[in-house]
Amino acid sequence: MTKPAASLRAIPAVEKILQALGDVDLPRPAVVSLVRRELAALRSAETIPAFEEVVKQIQAALNSVRLSRIQPVINGTGILIHTNLGRSPLGPEVVKTLTEIAANYNNLEYDLASGERGGRASYLEQNLALLCGAEAATVANNCAAALVLILRHFTSDERNEVVISRGELVQIGGGFRIPEILEASGAKLREIGTTNKTSLKDYKKALGARTGMILKVHRSNFFMDGFVESPSTEEIAGLALKQNVPFVEDLGSGAMIQTEQVPGIEHEPTPAEVLRRGVDLVCFSGDKLLGGPQAGLIAGQAKLVSALKREPFFRALRCDKLILAALQTTVDFYLAGAGEEGNGRASPVPVLEMMRMPMADLKSRAEKIVASLSGVHIKAGVGEGRAQIGGGTLPRSIIASVTLDLVPKNLALEEFSARLRHGSPPVIGYISGGRYKLDLRTIFAAQDQAVIHAIRVGTG
Ligand SMILES: *Cc1c(COP(=O)(O)O)cnc(C)c1O
Repeated sequence: MTKPAASLRAIPAVEKILQALGDVDLPRPAVVSLVRRELAALRSAETIPAFEEVVKQIQAALNSVRLSRIQPVINGTGILIHTNLGRSPLGPEVVKTLTEIAANYNNLEYDLASGERGGRASYLEQNLALLCGAEAATVANNCAAALVLILRHFTSDERNEVVISRGELVQIGGGFRIPEILEASGAKLREIGTTNKTSLKDYKKALGARTGMILKVHRSNFFMDGFVESPSTEEIAGLALKQNVPFVEDLGSGAMIQTEQVPGIEHEPTPAEVLRRGVDLVCFSGDKLLGGPQAGLIAGQAKLVSALKREPFFRALRCDKLILAALQTTVDFYLAGAGEEGNGRASPVPVLEMMRMPMADLKSRAEKIVASLSGVHIKAGVGEGRAQIGGGTLPRSIIASVTLDLVPKNLALEEFSARLRHGSPPVIGYISGGRYKLDLRTIFAAQDQAVIHAIRVGTG
């Protein structure tokens, strides 16, 4: 049913709204387009609100748009590698590399020694291989891309089957399912065993003329307990070698440190240890436990890595100069021993630093923040937190932590939480046990003042 013309005439003109909005810190075409959309929506509304009300609604919509812009946030969730919050933050040295490379020309594919065209990121590839104890290494856009590249390379029309245990057909994060990735790569899934039990015999039986490769997927985001069995990596590797079938493991996170040295954290397999067990190739993420930029790292046998790099498809998955440079700095840090604890230096990898931050440091920061909140309309205290690695990594591991526990005096927790989320910078915490909590393990010490400011503004 169309509205009477009189009613439609009550919808304000775009120009008038734009005038009423004044200066808006968003690109003008984006503002105009939003105003048009909002006004168009009024055509089907029951009643047309007053002009001021329409302006208010549009301002609220503009605020939502403003908040949707990618921007820094303060992570008070206690989840270190929070996929929704951009996974691993980069350290100052890595950021410095990014700034320098971004603003200048560089030798990305130019050999300064000879003055001729050079290999892309060959320095990084060599050092990454060293770090992984591998013959060779290379890099793709992310671990999913690395996996697709590997699957496409090792499967063909005749040998299209990928042998994988049913216990490893996992979903990793939003919309990344191992079986779907396999299918999208043109490979055929050859599931073996059961959810909880797969034996070496199951692998043996599945191998044949149609086998392209054996894939093992690290169960990064869940764990199985009880009546569980799977053959060791060494056993599968022995079988793969005998049958001349490539054996690849998707590690997901790929830690470069001995994670079990951090209290509360389990051991996460390192690429080097997995390759030592006889796996031909591993792939893992750059922005999970490695603490670098988004990337998919591949390491293993030299002949396999160079074959992957010759795939025409590799070109579509290659990283840009910024990622390569950031990764280069990160990898060099690990090689220099900067990932090890107790070397007296601050870790250049923020995720590692957060993992190891002593409780006493967190407590003293929390106490200082609480003390500086006197006079603010809020009940503030120091609480206990349970920080997690996140990013689908080490789901059983909990790191003891310290929280700011806040109960605003005349504001509902939900409202307070929303105000902090909408602030500048946005602060993300969580509500638990009748309190709003901010876990200090994932908040940089340099952000403490901003947290205090956000709480003051939020309660004001
Ligand atoms: C996280 C994860 C991936 C995906 O890695 P991205 O770098 O996000 O593409 C793949 N496999 C496993 C086992 C993972 O944990």
